[in-house]
Amino acid sequence: MNGYSADLKQVCGCSWAATGSTADEVVSKTKAHAKEMHNMMEVPAEIVQKLQAAIRPTM
Ligand SMILES: [Zn+2]
Repeated sequence: MNGYSADLKQVCGCSWAATGSTADEVVSKTKAHAKEMHNMMEVPAEIVQKLQAAIRPTM
């Protein structure tokens, strides 16, 4: 299955990987995670930057 994933250990320190069929899906799942797990109503630009850097295509 082709898609994208981001290891959140590099983003917010959680041992969880966000996955999705598009990079946008990974971003939105990570934002939902940040909201639920870290009470971040707005994801800081710093976290978004780390997230963009952590997104990798999966084979
Ligand atoms: Zn987290």
